[in-house]
Amino acid sequence: VAVAAAAAAKAEVGRATWTLLHMLAAQFPERPTRQQQRDARALVDCLTRIYPCGDCARHFAELVRLDPPVVSSGTAFRRWLCRTHNHVNSRLGKPSFNCDMVEARWAPLGCSAAEAAAGEEGLVG
Ligand code: FAD
Repeated sequence: VAVAAAAAAKAEVGRATWTLLHMLAAQFPERPTRQQQRDARALVDCLTRIYPCGDCARHFAELVRLDPPVVSSGTAFRRWLCRTHNHVNSRLGKPSFNCDMVEARWAPLGCSAAEAAAGEEGLVG
């Protein structure tokens, strides 16, 4: 039972993390600032160390070392994330995702970065 629960938790955190990353990539600007590029790289870099499944983190670190995040544009970041997720899919025996479909699967939320920041300050309902 404990093993099954651990496997379910591992899948849950995986889905949640991929959701965060793909949704973030869906909104990543086509012309990101240097800060936005640094932030995206730093987020991926942190996951290679503190992702809450040691084995996954080590494997992900190896993938990122061989093919570092491409953050020069939203399109490039989405493409990199899709192929990296596909490397993980392949390791787990899951089917490869068609990266031409990535923008259909992961659409932007529709709120701009400025609105999100204002919302944090309680300025937007
Ligand atoms: P997920 O792989 O979680 O994908 C969620 C959804 O994303 C899918 O339903 C699909 O709609 C979409 N999707 C799938 N592939 C792509 C793609 N290439 N591009 C865009 N969208 C896509 N688990 C392990 O057991 N061992 C590991 O070593 C491991 N390493 C991981 C490393 C990282 C960085 C992360 C975030 C997760 C890792 N996981 C690992 C978890 C694993 O990848 C899955 O998240 C988990 O098995 C649940 O899979 P799922 O079938 O629900 O779909």
